[in-house]
Amino acid sequence: MPRAQARIDLGAFASNLQRLREAAPRSEQLAVVKADAYGHGLIPMARAAREAGAEWLGVALFSEALELRSAGDTGPLLAWLAAPDDPWSEVAEAGIDIGVSTVSQLQRLTTPTRVHLKIDTGLGRAGCAPADWALLIDTAQRMQDAGSIDVVGIWSHFTVADDPANPLNTVQIQRFQEAVAAAESLDVEHHHLANSAATLALPAAHFTLVRPGIAMYGISPGAGMGCAADLGLRPVMTLVAQVTVVKRLPAGSGLSYGHLYTLDGDSTTAVVPLGYADGIPRNATNVGPVFAAGKRRTVAGRVCMDQFVLDLGDDAAAEGDEVVLFGSGADGIPLAEDWAEVTGTIGYEIVTRLGARVERVYR
Ligand SMILES: *Cc1c(COP(=O)(O)O)cnc(C)c1O
Repeated sequence: MPRAQARIDLGAFASNLQRLREAAPRSEQLAVVKADAYGHGLIPMARAAREAGAEWLGVALFSEALELRSAGDTGPLLAWLAAPDDPWSEVAEAGIDIGVSTVSQLQRLTTPTRVHLKIDTGLGRAGCAPADWALLIDTAQRMQDAGSIDVVGIWSHFTVADDPANPLNTVQIQRFQEAVAAAESLDVEHHHLANSAATLALPAAHFTLVRPGIAMYGISPGAGMGCAADLGLRPVMTLVAQVTVVKRLPAGSGLSYGHLYTLDGDSTTAVVPLGYADGIPRNATNVGPVFAAGKRRTVAGRVCMDQFVLDLGDDAAAEGDEVVLFGSGADGIPLAEDWAEVTGTIGYEIVTRLGARVERVYR
C-alpha cells in the first residue's frame, strides 16, 4: 500500500453504465472519458466502458482522442474541443470524429473527416449560433457533396439539465429539433443532446445517442437530482491514504499552518499525507470530511501542499492506519459530493482535480 491510493471499482462502473442503458434503452451510448476519465484514468476506464457495451467514446481534446487510438481503441470516438493549431488532419486520419461549431472550423478540414455539427441551443458556449446555422449547414452540404467530409451527427449541450423541471430544457430540446429538421438534407445518422442528467431525467432528449459522463463514475450530476444512491448509481472512486505520523499533544496546541485549529483537550493527532498538490482543496481547511479510526472526522486546521492533520481525541491510531477521504457514502465514509458541498464546488471537480501523484488501482 503506497502513501495514498485511488481505488477504482470497475464493477460499480459497469453497473452505472447498465443503469444508464436502462434509462435510455433505445439510444447508443457515448461514454465521456475526457479529463483522464474525470480523474479515474483514461485508458482503463475507456476499456471498461467498451467492455460494458458503450458503442462510442467521447473526449474533449484531440490529444485525449489520439491517446486512445495509441492504446489500441479503434471504435467510434468523438473529440469536440480543438484549437486552430491542433492536429486536425492527424485526428481525422485516425478515424476520430470531430465536433464542429463554425464555418472556419469546417474550412480547416483538408482530409476526409467525419463531422458532428454542433448547434448552440442555449448554453451560450460553443456551438453554432441559430442565426448562423443555415450557413454552416450549407457549407457542410457542399463539402459533403464534394466528398471531403461526412456529417455523421448533429448535436448540442444542455445548460441546466441537472434541474430537470427548468423550462430552458424544453426550449433547448425544441431548438435542437428545429436544427435537426433544418439539416435534413445532410442525411445525418446521429442526433445527440443528453448528458448524464438528461440521460437519467429527460427521456425527450435521448435521440439516437446519449453522452453520459459524471453518472458513470457514480456521482450525482447535481444536488437537485438527489444523491448517487437515489439515482441508482454506485461511487466508483475511493480515495484512501496511510497515516504517516501519530502523536499526543496537550490541550491548547495549534495544528498546521496559521493555527486555524486548536485542541480543546489533550488529544491524539494523525497526519494524512494528501494535500492541495494532490488535488485536495485547500478550502477544505477545517471542513473536509474523513473516515478515520472508526468514525467520521473533519480536517483539523489548514490543508497543506502534501498533508493535513486530524484530531482523533482519545481514539487510538497508528502509523500506517488507513483513512478514507471519500468513497461509498456508506458506514460513515464520505462521498465526493460531501467534499464538494463543504468546499463550494461540485462532485465533478473533486474527482477530476485529483493529481497525478495519487496512484490509481483497479479492482
Ligand atoms: C462533459 C460533457 C458531457 C458529459 O457531461 P456529464 O454532466 O458529466 O454527464 C457530455 N457532453 C459534452 C459535450 C461534454 O462536454
